Amino acid sequence: MSEAKQYTGSCLCGGLRYEIRGEIGDIIECHCQRCRKANGSAFASNAPIRKADFQIVQGEHLLKRFQSTETTQRCFCADCGSPIISIKTETPDLYRLRIGTLDTPLQQKPTQHIFVASKAEWETICDGLPQYDERP
Ligand SMILES: [Zn+2]
Ligand SMILES: [Zn+2]
Repeated sequence: MSEAKQYTGSCLCGGLRYEIRGEIGDIIECHCQRCRKANGSAFASNAPIRKADFQIVQGEHLLKRFQSTETTQRCFCADCGSPIISIKTETPDLYRLRIGTLDTPLQQKPTQHIFVASKAEWETICDGLPQYDERP
């Protein structure tokens, strides 16, 4: 049996800490307006993880859930506002991790840009990764 990868992460205030024992999926940069508002930035860097691999090891009471759309919950630290994960009703066994909150170095690189049709008008995407108008 191969040893599962292990990652740790935390929010900005450090009140909330999590561990992931398993793989982190493809990193996707999402430029949709909801991600931009939730992060206050040009895009969100998200990657799928298995729900079963994710564990909050400190500050679980700080994880606040916001119903962003009918099918998406965005979960963030109630104290400092760091976005941590989102959960979609159609894929309940996956979480979408906000990889900027990882403390463990991540070897993977982003793979694609999505919702580029709704990116901020002031943003220029400068890499050669595939770009999709919405979710491919
Ligand atoms: Zn926090
Ligand atoms: Zn998005």
